[in-house]
Amino acid sequence: MAEKITSRSVDYSQWYLDIVLNAKLADYSPVKGCMVIRPRGYAIWERLRDELDRRFKATGHVNAYFPMLIPMSFLKKEAEHVEGFAPELAVVTHGGGEELDEPLVLRPTSETIIWDKYRDWIQSWRDLPLLINQWANVVRWEKRTRLFLRTAEFLWQEGHTAHETSKEAEEETLRMLEVYRSFAEEFLALPVVAGVKSDSEKFAGAVRTYTIEAMMQDRKALQAGTSHFLGQNFAKAFDVKFQSREGKLEHVWASSWGVSTRLVGALIMTHSDDKGLVLPPTLAPEEVVIVPIFKGDSKPAVLAYGERLATALKSLGLRVVFDSDESNSPGWKFAEWEMRGTPVRIELGPRDMEAGKVVLVRRDTGEKEIVAVEAAPARVRELLGLIQANLLERARAFRVENTKSIGTRDEMLAFFSKEGAGTADATGGFAEALWCGSAECEAGLKAETKATLRCMPMDRQEGISGTCALCGAPAKHRAIFSRSY
Ligand SMILES: [Zn+2]
Repeated sequence: MAEKITSRSVDYSQWYLDIVLNAKLADYSPVKGCMVIRPRGYAIWERLRDELDRRFKATGHVNAYFPMLIPMSFLKKEAEHVEGFAPELAVVTHGGGEELDEPLVLRPTSETIIWDKYRDWIQSWRDLPLLINQWANVVRWEKRTRLFLRTAEFLWQEGHTAHETSKEAEEETLRMLEVYRSFAEEFLALPVVAGVKSDSEKFAGAVRTYTIEAMMQDRKALQAGTSHFLGQNFAKAFDVKFQSREGKLEHVWASSWGVSTRLVGALIMTHSDDKGLVLPPTLAPEEVVIVPIFKGDSKPAVLAYGERLATALKSLGLRVVFDSDESNSPGWKFAEWEMRGTPVRIELGPRDMEAGKVVLVRRDTGEKEIVAVEAAPARVRELLGLIQANLLERARAFRVENTKSIGTRDEMLAFFSKEGAGTADATGGFAEALWCGSAECEAGLKAETKATLRCMPMDRQEGISGTCALCGAPAKHRAIFSRSY
């Protein structure tokens, strides 16, 4: 048998770790809180990264790379920024065997070092917009860590753009939020709610933070990406001015936006099951695995039958593995490929071969079907499309089922009353409620239930009337509250 995976209903956290470790996605590091990304985990990240990079370039962005060491004084230039990141900073005090004149920070994010350069690069409105993205690692000294979801060092991309006007910077912020939303849904099969963060939850140094929020199978929220409208905060802190079309000297307007390797954690938690990883076909290192079944004399013919099919599948551009390894039984291999999350498995043995057929098995539903071998490649391609769509719809239906409209404080407390260990026992989910806009009101709920304001959904702000579900004051927004990762 393949490695045992703890059931979600027994221990959701352990289930998650079992999948990460047994599917060989990541491993622990000698430094607490850091993560080794193993080849299979990295292959998923590469597919995700390449698609996102393509979408950034299609919207006019270019890549660059800035150093990971940032002078401590840079972070102090933007007051809110340094306050927000100070507790998580890793600081280098020595280099070349000597104490440094000024400590250097391992970047927690790169606004400061990038805006220091933008001061030199931007002189006139002709230099704008400046649309730069960086793929990099960042370090945030987190106390409680979990592979992929929260690690001291992680991989991400950070876009940093500069614009002539507030309107253009805000448009860019929203354009990138939409790039994230469509990428999450179309490519990751991850349904998300797009919305605005409250002031207490926004990025340190931003005027406004937009987010995409997903619901995991234990009904907790996971922030899957953020896009920030920075106003002129960093331009003022780093004295970045440009000559406007009217000939005036003005501060530049800015946005920044990022997603990270935590998306891999989101994928696992959204789609996987008690047999292991479930991957959307778009992200699977291999879309199809062929497992031949043979005994004695039938071996050469069955292998040739399987290899011909593998060639036909590859000729359609599909990513195929032909698993003819004889050291493990077919049953062991079935379980192993299920654990690894391969979307479609093809089984073929002597009797299938005689009948000119093969067996196709879907990873998402476990459904089996027998098809003629000539029809198999086209059917596999069709199944991959169906699996991609089903994963998105299944996750969306789960979120809808676990989103409740809440009218009063008592209802809210009841909704978050019990933090069950497993999915079957847990309460909570997304509580949609009217909110007054007060930070104290929001903090009160967090103290009592650990639920935070995830976002104010952008498509749900029309016709707000009534009172705050938490304090009874006049409502200003409709918000989603949830416990989160
Ligand atoms: Zn209130």
